[in-house]
Amino acid sequence: MDFLVNNTGWIEVICGPMFSGKSEELIRRLRRARIARRRVQVFKPAIDLRYSADEIVSHTDARLKAEVVNNGPEILTRLDWRTQVVGVDEANFMGPEMVDIAQQLADSGKQVVIAGLDTDYLGRPFPPVPDLLALAESITKMLAICMRCGNPAKHTQRLVESEDLIVVGASGLYEARCRRCFEPGIPPHQEELPFVTAMRRAPSHSE
Ligand code: ADP
Ligand code: ZN
Repeated sequence: MDFLVNNTGWIEVICGPMFSGKSEELIRRLRRARIARRRVQVFKPAIDLRYSADEIVSHTDARLKAEVVNNGPEILTRLDWRTQVVGVDEANFMGPEMVDIAQQLADSGKQVVIAGLDTDYLGRPFPPVPDLLALAESITKMLAICMRCGNPAKHTQRLVESEDLIVVGASGLYEARCRRCFEPGIPPHQEELPFVTAMRRAPSHSE
């Protein structure tokens, strides 16, 4: 995205499954903003400290310094009023207030660049990203490569059994899958969603 005149704020969202290049793309956009001499602040949620406590790290090991926050509102308390561009990684871990915070930032003239998973390990929309998509000026949906068949992949396949919505990790725990290869496994004791039940009943056309 290019930069706007007159300090008009806006929201741009980069979404997609794990391994689709969201962090790489976020880092690329924020680096370009710095090259354009814009004042940039970058935030990531405290839940995701798997590779680095003070950086965004992509699966290709691209890195960018980031401030760690526990939730959306903490971004406001950490914000330097001179900041022009606000980057947020892993928005799916930022909590529901992230939507309102992004709106406030954009309304006050900031360019807000947000990356996050748009669906969870069962293929369900992953709050608050769907609302951010609805309110954004610009949306980029990234696709990964399906680890089963090589097609473009929009799903994050969990490879280990867990009942938790959030299991932080990457290779070995998750892989990218396309629509056909995705298997939305239902952990024991978790209620099956109607669309998943329907999916199980409907025979695949290719079989
Ligand atoms: P995300 O933030 O969406 O999880 P990253 O930006 O961290 O993605 O990493 C993207 C990089 O991961 C790609 O450029 C590629 O080198 C690597 N990669 C590993 N597995 C896959 C895959 N299944 N599909 C596409 N890229 C993959
Ligand atoms: Zn596939």
